[in-house]
Parts: sequence; C-alpha cells; structure tokens
Amino acid sequence: MIENKGILFVLSGPSGVGKGTVRKALFDQATDLQYSISVTTRKPRNGEKHGVDYFFHEKDEVEKMIEESKLLEWAEYVGNYYGTPREYVEQTLESGKDVFLEIEVQGALQVKENFPEGVFIFLFPPSLDELKNRIVNRGTETEDLVRNRLLAAKEEIEMMEAYDYVVVNDTVSHAVEKINSIVQAEHCKRERI
Ligand code: 5GP
Repeated sequence: MIENKGILFVLSGPSGVGKGTVRKALFDQATDLQYSISVTTRKPRNGEKHGVDYFFHEKDEVEKMIEESKLLEWAEYVGNYYGTPREYVEQTLESGKDVFLEIEVQGALQVKENFPEGVFIFLFPPSLDELKNRIVNRGTETEDLVRNRLLAAKEEIEMMEAYDYVVVNDTVSHAVEKINSIVQAEHCKRERI
C-alpha cells in the first residue's frame, strides 16, 4: 500500500533556540514541504508582512477563530495568541503534500493529541547559556518580555520527551541538514508496496 496523504512535520522547541531562523533557512532552499503560516495577535516586527510571516489579527478576531474551531492548535504565548489555521493543514495533507509547522511547545503538544502520526522535532540549543544569550540579545523585547521568555524556555525544555527527534541547533546549516534527513527518513518509513 502506498500512503497518499502528506506527512505533518512539527518543529518546536524553547523560545530563543532559533526555530524561526532554521525554518527560514529550510524554506530558502528548494523543498517540497508546505509551510503553514500562523495567525497571531502580536504586532509585526520590522520587515514582517501579513500573509508571509504571519496572518496578523486583532485579539477578538483570533478569539472568534478559536470559538469556531478554525485553529488546529493555539497558545497564548507571552501575552499574545498564536495559532495554526486548521483548514489549510487538513486540506494540504489530504492533497498528498507534507505540511511543516514551526510552533511553540504548548501548541505542539496539542497537535500531537490530534495528529499522533505527525513527526515531532525538538530543536535544542547547543547549551543553556547560549539560549539565554540569544533571548537577551534579540534586542526587540523589553526586560519583562525577556524574563518571561526565559521562564517559558525552561518549562519548554522539560517537554522534550514527547518528541520523535531532537536536533541540536549548533549551526543553522547543520540543523537544516538534519531536518531534511528526517523528512527523507520518514518518507522511506512510509513507503510500503
Ligand atoms: P515570535 O513572536 O518570536 O514570532 O514567536 C513566538 C513563538 O510563537 C515562537 O516560539 C514560535 O515558534 C511560536 N509560534 C509561531 N506560530 C505559532 C502557532 O501557530 N502556534 C503556536 N502554538 N506557536 C506559534
């Protein structure tokens, strides 16, 4: 039997580990993965575009999406909502294409409940000191936000056990290489005639 549905890949990990950077580098290369653009109530950072980086919405709009079950998962993270549009993910998988989510840990655990067959990848920092430096040096956050992100990161690391793979983000290119290998391996695993 050949599996016709796409595979759902979920990249997650603690705040500041570099999920966004690794995901962008992965999609800068030719890839057959389809990136699911999230909705958020966070304000756009410099250079971010609606419909490219995120779908930027008001709080009441996202609350309505949650009420109407339009999000596959959602989380309130450091004062903002983040969520994955359900329809895009389900339709894309149904059409046989792989979907790639880059989300924080609470959301990834929700996805695992609904899609246990998904492939869960935990991006891990080369060291905890390095993680702290990355959060502090990001430079776009206030002191309070930095403190909250550090606290969230510590709790998130405790969730590592729930994942299928751990990828250490020593360099972006190594991490991308490892993720591509995981994607390939998961396809080989499902190829049964
Ligand atoms: P940032 O505000 O730095 O873009 O993202 C903050 C965190 O939210 C990151 O850990 C990012 O991976 C996560 N995130 C982005 N989109 C989603 C989503 O749709 N759902 C969840 N649960 N987290 C998300």
